[in-house]
Amino acid sequence: MKFKIGFDIDKGKNSEEVKNEKTFSSENSDNVENFVYMDNHSSGTVAKKSVVEVYFEDRGISCSYYNDAFDLKLGDIVFVEGKLEGLPGRVTDISYSFKIKLSEYKKVIRVADTTVKGTFLLGGRCLFTKQENALPFEKIRGWFMPYTYSEEEYVIGSDDFSFPLRAPGAIKISKDVGGRGVDYFESGRVLYIELKNNHGRALVKGSRIYEVEFDYKNGEISNPNCECFCSGICKHIFSVILQLNELILIAEDNYPELDIMAGYLAIVNKEVFYGYALSEDKYGALVLK
Ligand SMILES: [Zn+2]
Repeated sequence: MKFKIGFDIDKGKNSEEVKNEKTFSSENSDNVENFVYMDNHSSGTVAKKSVVEVYFEDRGISCSYYNDAFDLKLGDIVFVEGKLEGLPGRVTDISYSFKIKLSEYKKVIRVADTTVKGTFLLGGRCLFTKQENALPFEKIRGWFMPYTYSEEEYVIGSDDFSFPLRAPGAIKISKDVGGRGVDYFESGRVLYIELKNNHGRALVKGSRIYEVEFDYKNGEISNPNCECFCSGICKHIFSVILQLNELILIAEDNYPELDIMAGYLAIVNKEVFYGYALSEDKYGALVLK
């Protein structure tokens, strides 16, 4: 059975709504200072000062923050300053009526862009797309990390070995690392994989989110490396290889017309997708075939 999910979700307010808000601000001169025009938020709308409650799933706690920079909506993924800097949190409450001492509040410093547009196919525990701009690595990385991706330079040593993607059983790793890699894969910790121009990048959830990179060409994986700085193949890299193999098998059975490993490919864990890209959307389209 085949499913296809095609959708087009634009979380930005439509121009009519934005226009109304601006009109409101100019007609109520007392409130003008409450409206700041934003151009660094994906929705490109106005920001209204607010105090927001943010829930940090990783820590299981909620805290309040002052926001004067973004047009926040319930469910938005935000990053804050202060002790929880660097951790993604979800906006669970917004109040516009408040009086606070600014010195006692930390601020919201970034909102993740969880807008996704494109056609995704179902592939087991994942969804995948061959459309390059549907959900690129840089965007989904911003759902988990505080700053956007920069091409920071790393020195990566490589001993020039490669191995066939389709034979993960032949990879030389310890039983312990292999077992944990299988656990990671089976429990859905591989959140995302992108293959672009023979280069792979992936996000794996361990004690934090780890970035995995590798090269892929003619069925061979080479230069695998991971942020955990283990030498050789770590559990994160191994779990990514297992996830790729599962998707290839599913694609061969269900999408025989598709050359899954040719050209661009992005794979996203279903729960991540539902939890971030769809969770608070009130409109958009899902097409199941
Ligand atoms: Zn690792």
